[in-house]
Amino acid sequence: MKIAIFGGTFDPVHNAHLAIARAAVDRFALDQVLFIPAANPPHKPGRAAAPYQDRLAMVRIAVRDQPRFEASSLEAREEKSYSIRTIERLRARLAPSDELYFLIGADAFAEITTWYRWRDVLRSVIFLIVTRPGHRYEVPADARALELSEVELPVSATVIRERLARGEQVDSIPPGVLEYIRTHGLYTPETGTRVT
Ligand code: ATP
Repeated sequence: MKIAIFGGTFDPVHNAHLAIARAAVDRFALDQVLFIPAANPPHKPGRAAAPYQDRLAMVRIAVRDQPRFEASSLEAREEKSYSIRTIERLRARLAPSDELYFLIGADAFAEITTWYRWRDVLRSVIFLIVTRPGHRYEVPADARALELSEVELPVSATVIRERLARGEQVDSIPPGVLEYIRTHGLYTPETGTRVT
């Protein structure tokens, strides 16, 4: 089996996340992409805007019709969501012949050498790096990395949160996710959730 970890804040999950995962499945013949929201993302300033349970719920909605995508709560109880812990926990559940990939945007990969136990991360997975407009990256010498460049989408969760906070139309998230955001009053200044 070829399994890809797709970590992120998913605050909220958006169409670029889904397009990237789909492109990775097609291009690299992946059997499964695990969307794993970070409970406490170590690389984001401050905290996520929406609570972990809401971000996980939105990911569940976004992947529900996609047989090769799965929402995972593997990082639910971590004090800090370090990828190496997720990788090791997942490895323990897989067969030795299973291949583990790590799907990641160029912006996030550019910071790889700042990650906790990053050399162990490099040894454990094959990176699938998605190019992202305006972001360059270097591949460390001993990393195994493949590039996915056909999805260049200028969508970001930050822009989506800003638009929602201003009450503007947002068309880059799945309708079910938008409905969840509205029902739960997420990303509106009135509820006190952080916007940036
Ligand atoms: P934010 O704007 O809050 O930083 P984001 O849109 O980058 O959020 P994350 O949840 O941080 O979303 O992203 C999860 C993963 O998806 C990261 O590896 C990120 O680089 C990647 N990603 C998100 N949007 C894109 C995009 N438009 N193109 C390429 N990669 C992306």
